[in-house]
Amino acid sequence: MIEKNFNFFFNPISKTKGIGPKIQKLFNEKKIESNIDLIFNFPYGLIDRTHCPRLNNLEIGKISTIFVKVKKHNFPRIRRLPNTVQCFDDTGEINIVFFNSRENYIKEILPLNSEVIISGKINFYKNKYQITNPDYVTSVNNEDKVSKIMPTYSSLKGVSNKTINKIYENITKNIPDVPEWHRDIVIQNNNWSSFKDSLIQLHNPKKIEDINKNSLAYERISFDEIFSNLLIFSQIKKKNLSIYKKPKVFSSEYKLKIVKNLSFTLTKDQQDIIKEIEDGLKKDKKMLRLLQGDVGSGKTIISIISGLNVVASGFQVALMCPTEILATQHLNLMKSITQELNIKIEILSSGVNKKRQIEIKKELADGAINFLIGTHSLFQETVSFNNLGLIIIDEQHKFGVKQRINLSEKGGKNCDVLLMSATPIPRTLILSTYGDMDISTLREKPFKKTKIITNIIPEKKIPDLINLIKNKIESKQQVYWICPLIEESKKVKLTPVLERFEYLKKYFPENVAVMHGNLKNDEKINVMKDFLDKKFSILISTTVVEVGVDNQNANTIIIENSERFGLAQLHQLRGRVGRGNEDGECILIYSKSISENGKKRLKILKESNDGFYISEQDLKLRGFGDIIGYKQSGEKDFIVADPLYHSHLFELAKQETDLFTEANLPIDKFSTLLKFFKKDKILNIIDTG
Ligand code: ADP
Ligand code: MG
Repeated sequence: MIEKNFNFFFNPISKTKGIGPKIQKLFNEKKIESNIDLIFNFPYGLIDRTHCPRLNNLEIGKISTIFVKVKKHNFPRIRRLPNTVQCFDDTGEINIVFFNSRENYIKEILPLNSEVIISGKINFYKNKYQITNPDYVTSVNNEDKVSKIMPTYSSLKGVSNKTINKIYENITKNIPDVPEWHRDIVIQNNNWSSFKDSLIQLHNPKKIEDINKNSLAYERISFDEIFSNLLIFSQIKKKNLSIYKKPKVFSSEYKLKIVKNLSFTLTKDQQDIIKEIEDGLKKDKKMLRLLQGDVGSGKTIISIISGLNVVASGFQVALMCPTEILATQHLNLMKSITQELNIKIEILSSGVNKKRQIEIKKELADGAINFLIGTHSLFQETVSFNNLGLIIIDEQHKFGVKQRINLSEKGGKNCDVLLMSATPIPRTLILSTYGDMDISTLREKPFKKTKIITNIIPEKKIPDLINLIKNKIESKQQVYWICPLIEESKKVKLTPVLERFEYLKKYFPENVAVMHGNLKNDEKINVMKDFLDKKFSILISTTVVEVGVDNQNANTIIIENSERFGLAQLHQLRGRVGRGNEDGECILIYSKSISENGKKRLKILKESNDGFYISEQDLKLRGFGDIIGYKQSGEKDFIVADPLYHSHLFELAKQETDLFTEANLPIDKFSTLLKFFKKDKILNIIDTG
């Protein structure tokens, strides 16, 4: 329910004064489509025209506003020479130079003998001060009308700042009043102004501090955004709690049979979390749980045992993985430990032939399959389950927020959801992305005699690695060699992987294989299978092995151009080794072009093997948008707020949204706010779900 005068915010920008088709197109390219988008595009800086020197006191390069009298016009007849106007005050002279301005226009704005204000950057040419193409010229009578501080906006190609500023002047004048949606106390305690006034302040800064991310106005609007984000999650949570779910009923029979067959004993953390999940499954409310734990902390077995509990209770389970390789690996593990159980496990992915896919879909629909493992293809329209009781998503940060919410709706009311993430997630990010979920954190890593040693070397030492690899191969070990993908003019190039493949083949013929995203699915699986079967010793690969691949015999990982990767990603890659009984070794190669900051980052990795610490450092060094594959899922959750900068606002927003949700009030009060920050679409999914 949007009040009528709020239509202003959602009108297309073309209705705003000063925006014709050309400018509209340029804004649209920046995803600025409605007035509110335009308004949320705050200035990033300002031009200060408060410096008003006399002409004997000019500083070259400085933006200055001068008060002068017009002495002489100079309109040369030679076309390529600019028109100039000579001006003076009591202390000196200056030339105002115009390229591409017509004589008549100049005469009009700078009539002879008039007293004028001119603003622009001072330069010095042929022994004379001048201002070229001044930013503005006006009569001294208008002094109070000129704003000496002008905000600067990100530029539009071929459009002058002046034009952009004019548009913003127009639009901010027309912002309607908006009733306050937050509690008075929240606004007072923070010294915030109203939504409207905050917007106006941000577009009319008096000093640079006024538009900083920590200015009161910027914080207020960021709070609105963070609030709307968390509000959605608390609504989803509330909705889920209101739905009756058929509780799962099972004994420990399956669990005991599995645990008996493991080559290790479960850690206390693993046991506790299995219990936590069991409690969630047995409840009559839908479980939405995120299991986070560092690489190699042993999440897989937790999810398998939880899944088997659900099978024991007569429901089906779907386990979704981001890659086919991982899906196959999980299938193999499950087959090996569930032999004593009479259950049917299948894999569904684009690699499975069409005929078999159809059979599988049929068996799913009639309930013959108990446990389905697969990739994205699990959630195609044509896949329907007989009675799905649990969705497990491995390495879930590869999937986006909307995808995730959609999914939990698709599962139906009896379906619990368990997400797993290998990268420990900072609290701010948890609130902003998983606010609707309960969290289990696996801190303890399985006790291991082995450790991983990390070494950092420059690329010129690559030839030395040949000997190292020879030694590894002699002691029957296998090696990963990772190369980055090179992105050139939007095309991803495989050059580094392929060149390295050729290079290593010279030294180790018949003993190297290559893997990358361009291989067909079954090719990838075959390469991986041959690697596991030790048919070759060196696997050269892009980061497709990053997620979850488990080969206990490969204990060395060499990563080329390591400065190009995120720390969390490097930590993931490093987690591929040291999984068996031997120590792991990780060699990070950097190229000549590494920055000082880049060296610092690699050092963090050498010094720590603690994923929580590493992801915190990564967040500090690289910013929010870059971490844990956020980019890969292609989502940008915030328009205005910066979760790193505004982390303190998350706690407050959480309090406020919980308070509101607990009070059981209709969400209509916030419908405009949600629409401002484009959350209304998610709300629709919940409403109709
Ligand atoms: P991740 O949390 O990264 O998914 P995995 O579940 O793949 O980790 O486990 C990593 C390795 O540790 C696997 O080889 C697994 O068999 C082993 N593992 C899991 N739990 C334990 C345990 N309690 N004791 C010893 N090894 C374990
Ligand atoms: Mg895993």
